[in-house]
Parts: sequence; C-alpha cells; structure tokens
Amino acid sequence: MESLATQNVRIFNSLNGIKEDFTPINKKSVGMYVCGPTVYSKVHLGNCRTFISFDIVYRYLKFLGYKVRYVRNITDAGHLENDADEGEDRIAKKARIEEIEPMEVVQKYTVDFHQTLTKFNTLPPSIEPTATGHIVEQIEVIKQILEAGFAYEIDGSVYFDVIKFNKTSTYGKLSGRKLEDMIHNTRETSGQSEKQNPQDFALWKRAQPEHIMRWPSPWSDGFPGWHLECTAMSTKYLGNQFDIHGGGMDLKFPHHECEIAQGEAISSQTPAKFWVHANMLTLNGKKMAKSTGNNILPDEIFDGSNSIMKRAFSPAVTRFFMLQAHYRSVLDISNDAMVASEKGFSKLMQAVVLSNTVETSAVTTDFDVLNWKQKCYDAMNDDFNTPILIANLFDAVKFIQNLQGGRATISENDLKTLNSTLHDFVTNVLGLVNEEENDNDNYLNGAMSLLIELRNDARNRKDFETSDKIRDALHNVGIELKDGSQDTTYTLRK
Ligand SMILES: [Zn+2]
Repeated sequence: MESLATQNVRIFNSLNGIKEDFTPINKKSVGMYVCGPTVYSKVHLGNCRTFISFDIVYRYLKFLGYKVRYVRNITDAGHLENDADEGEDRIAKKARIEEIEPMEVVQKYTVDFHQTLTKFNTLPPSIEPTATGHIVEQIEVIKQILEAGFAYEIDGSVYFDVIKFNKTSTYGKLSGRKLEDMIHNTRETSGQSEKQNPQDFALWKRAQPEHIMRWPSPWSDGFPGWHLECTAMSTKYLGNQFDIHGGGMDLKFPHHECEIAQGEAISSQTPAKFWVHANMLTLNGKKMAKSTGNNILPDEIFDGSNSIMKRAFSPAVTRFFMLQAHYRSVLDISNDAMVASEKGFSKLMQAVVLSNTVETSAVTTDFDVLNWKQKCYDAMNDDFNTPILIANLFDAVKFIQNLQGGRATISENDLKTLNSTLHDFVTNVLGLVNEEENDNDNYLNGAMSLLIELRNDARNRKDFETSDKIRDALHNVGIELKDGSQDTTYTLRK
C-alpha cells in the first residue's frame, strides 16, 4: 500500500522516554494490547479519554494499511481494592453492596462500557478477552514463572519474587523507580503480610472462605493476581513480544511494571516494544474524584444532568474536545472549553458538507493541497498529534469558506484530493461523525414534511380519499397527525 511505504510513524516510547521510528515486528501486521476496564462501576470520563486515544492509534495504523490485531481485556476478577494485594475484590464488593451476583455486576458494567464507547464512536477491538475466561492460561503462566525460579508459594498463594528478578533484570525500568529506593521507602507492615518482601506481588491468592470468585489451582482454591491476566492474554493472542502496549498513565506502576517482570520471567523478552501511556483528564483544573464531587460521567455530559456543565454536549463534541489535546498532555475539561469545542466542531463539520458542494472554477488553486495533505499525515506520524492535525484541518476549513465566498479558486483535481483527504482524516482517522447527518430524526422529519405536504395538497383539491388514506396509514404505524390553525404537526405514539 502506498501510504505504508511512504509514511514514517514515530511513537513516544515510555520505556526510554524518546520518540522512536515505528517498525512493526511482522512488517505489515501490528499487535497492540491495551489494558481495559475493571467492570465494577460505570466507566469514567478519564478512562474514556484513554480508550479514545488508543482508538486513534488503532484507526491511524489501520488507515495506513497495517493489519492491526487490537486486544483489549475486560477485568472481571482479581482486581483488589489496593495495590498491596490486600482488600476485597472490587467486583465482589460491588456485588455484595448491590446484592447481586458478581457476574451480574460484570455484565451490567460491561454493557455500560460498550454502550458508552459506542456513543464515542470508538471501534471495537479485534479481541476482547476476559480474566475469568482465561484462568487456565493464567495458571500456566504461574507454573512457568515458578519453573523459572522467579516466584514462591506460601500457604496456597504464589508471589512474584521481585528481589530475585531484579538480580538478572531491572524491576522499575518503565516507571524509572529503583528497587532499593522502593525498599527504603516502604514502612514495615509488622508481619501482616505473608510476602517475603513488600514489593513482591501476587500471582495467585488463596481465597478466604467468604471470597465468592474462586477457582481450583495446583496451589489452592483461589484467584489470580490482577497483573497476571494481561500477561496471560497478551501472550496468548499476540505472542511473547508484540508491538504496542497501551494504557492510562496511572497503570505504569505497578501494573505495567509487573507485566514486564512477568513477561521477562517467562520469555526473557520485554513483552512489548512500545509502551504508550495516555495522560489524565482533570475537571475544572482539579483531579476528578467521586469523593470530592469533582466528577462527571459521560452520560451526564450527554444529557446535561450534572451541576458542572451549563448544558448538554454530544458525544461527538466531547470526542472532538479530547482530540484537541495531545494524548500525552493533561487535559482539563470545563464548560467554557466544551462550548469552544462545540463551535469548532460544528465549523469543521459544516466545512466538510460545504466542500462537497464547491464548484471548480479554474485551472489554478489558491491553496497548496498536496502540501496540506502531507502536513495532515506528518501530524499523525509525529506520535499521533491530533491537535496539530486539527489545526491543519482548519486551514482547509478557512480555504473552503473562501471558495464558497468566491474569494478563491480550485481546480477539479485539487478539489477531489481536498475532499477525499478531508473525509479520510475527519471520518476515518479522527472518527468524527456529523451528528446532524446521522440523526434518524432528520430522516423522519424530512419524510414527514413531504407526507404532510402531499396530504395538504390533496385536501386543497378536496381529494379527501387521498388525504384520509395518508392520515390513516400513518396512524397504523404509530404516527398521529395534528392539524393546527397554522400548520400540521405530528407525534409518535409511544
Ligand atoms: Zn493490564
């Protein structure tokens, strides 16, 4: 494919802190793993930003012609309340509070997650494996780590031996932490933990009698440690080493650090070549947190049922807002920022519609279309820089407005390139949809105004047979016509 050969993508690698040329391990195929949600509550907006960021990576690599296998897991077991392998399982806790089965919690919030991401127009991953569906694979990985000598068993639980691992490898290389500092900074937990060292992490935990989600294993009836599922599933579907591993910035430590340790313990290879992290989303300049009330859910933005925004904003506007910042920058959401994004979004979408009605009037073009097109690619090639891409798109918006106003000209060929490039980057790469165009209500409104007009014509001709036929036929499909003094309106019978 032409694009594959000519576009040089560079990606910022969290492993070494530099932008590197992206060359997939298997030429035209890309393997990408992104840590998915723990499905114990409604997906929050910050997580949506992470998944939208990786949707852009997925879309752009596919757009360039790569065959991408995108694996994003669902954590439905094993994620405890804190990182020290203590506390209740988040899903089991929610099940207890809501008085339902853990798998009902999982189902409920998996559905919410999918529905929300669909509203944001993110593409589904190629494989979406669950932790509970891969218990056998996780047990296998534990056996391999034990065999390699990097884990130990105590009373039915198995822990990863970080100190031993660090003798032949580097624990902390992703987050830049040093094991000695971690040990130095850890206060003794007065023998509460059975771990040999506080930095060790659980691969398998023996279940307490009250723990509902449990599986048999060679060590005990228990459940896997949270970090393990990603190693088991990424290895199964992408191999010991794959191209891109993504997730939110907060997962760098300990989650991704532990994934690297597990991967290296079983294969001596760092699981992924590129580690990519999306930054966080703040609200009105402050960290989002349920406990402080500085929090907003995606649906509360879409329907306006919140005390933070002055009104509702659509999913497409919210997506556009997020793409106006680079994925590695902190982004702050506020009412004013959303109002500004909404204006920008509507201007961009109007220009996309306008560009299809522009007439070619000259052999010359007052805009370097080919250069502009390459600049769009360059922005995305440079670590998926969506804000720069959007700025370039607005150069085209301005030019289209000039064309429409008769202040500029364009040749037929250039117009073709302009339109297809605009469509490619707006629709395929950024995943932005023109909500007005896709709104079913608009189709219905269009069809209804035609029917109402035909009926009025019939009535004016005193052709009551036809006018009654239209009214009755609409009534039969649940649409009621109402004749007012000025005009005829319709309502849908619910
Ligand atoms: Zn993970």
